[in-house]
Amino acid sequence: MDHIFSDRISDVPKSFLREILKTTVNEDVISFAGGLPNRDLFPIQEIKKASIKVLDEFGGDALQYSTSEGYSELRKWISERYASKMGLTVNPDNILITTGSQQGLDLIGKTLINESESVAIEEPGYLGAIQAFSLYRPNFLPIPLHFDGLDLEALRFASERYAIKLIYAVPNFQNPSGLSHSDENRDEVARILSGSQTIFVEDDPYGELQFRGEKRRSYYSRIPEQTILLGSFSKIFAPSLRIGWMVAPNRLMEKLIIAKQASDLHTNYFGQRILFQYLTDNNLDLHITKIRAKYSKQKDAMVAAISKYFPKEIRYSDPDGGMFLWAILPEGISSRAVFDLAIEKKVAFVPGDPFYVNRTNANTMRLNFSCVDEETIEIGIRRLGKIISDFIT
Ligand code: PMP
Repeated sequence: MDHIFSDRISDVPKSFLREILKTTVNEDVISFAGGLPNRDLFPIQEIKKASIKVLDEFGGDALQYSTSEGYSELRKWISERYASKMGLTVNPDNILITTGSQQGLDLIGKTLINESESVAIEEPGYLGAIQAFSLYRPNFLPIPLHFDGLDLEALRFASERYAIKLIYAVPNFQNPSGLSHSDENRDEVARILSGSQTIFVEDDPYGELQFRGEKRRSYYSRIPEQTILLGSFSKIFAPSLRIGWMVAPNRLMEKLIIAKQASDLHTNYFGQRILFQYLTDNNLDLHITKIRAKYSKQKDAMVAAISKYFPKEIRYSDPDGGMFLWAILPEGISSRAVFDLAIEKKVAFVPGDPFYVNRTNANTMRLNFSCVDEETIEIGIRRLGKIISDFIT
């Protein structure tokens, strides 16, 4: 049977995350395993109004085929937001609307990766990027991610030894760890890469969900000619619309648009029009403020519960934003084994394994806080703390 499949797809690591999520849908399981935005915050009435308005006012236009680059008004809106929020000058011509930022990853793979070329990726890293790039059969170079950012020695070593085609990272409130690259770390990473052939893929779906601290300057502002910056409306609006974007330098844009055309002609145009109508008639900042306030409280509840109930030797991130927290068990303890016990006691998380290119029985765990209310977080973390304590003693 295997011979009917392409080598390309046969090489892609099977996601055991899906299997894990299946075991956690049970109603009485307290699940920190998910990775979804909180559905209670979706602006349902506003989306309803925007949809009706688009149909009433633009009718057939909004339902017709459209351009591969994306709706020009939406690209302009994104460009203006970069200017006002991040002080970044981005020409709308350098913005390509994608079907979620996940498609951006696939288009990058299609456009830039030849088989066996080196792709550096932070480790732990976003599972969806590992999967998307795997289809193009690269040689992955894992670069360890520490509490303050990328391991500079490992990056220097890799960049001296290999022709790194691209490096992928989520520098703000990463999935899975909640960790961010510090400004000093970004400076050094940019210095190492500057002037090389390497493209930095800066995936930033969580940057706007910052609870505290200073905003850090993007890689795009440091090495613009070498950076592709990915953004998404999934975490600040609604993921089902599947609307994201990529910012790329001129020299890459033309080929990325060809790849986009070949993939799906263009991103759902009706969705883009509804989104733009929403952005015109509502204040997105107010909406994001609500999301931040909610997630920030949930994060605080999780950190407070962990410090109360987890054994003291467990290290964990205390994220400044985003949706995830990372816990590190003592060396040699498999979080998969802990997961099996946790499921019996009706509490779930994601064991670290799928976030590594090539590692099993990792001692790490991803905990999502965006979908569980504060009281339930306390109950779940207490349960988990007991399981971990029993396991490691
Ligand atoms: N990058 C990261 C780091 C993510 O966590 C996700 C979604 N979980 C994506 C990209 C893809 O998001 P979307 O396609 O919905 O924009």
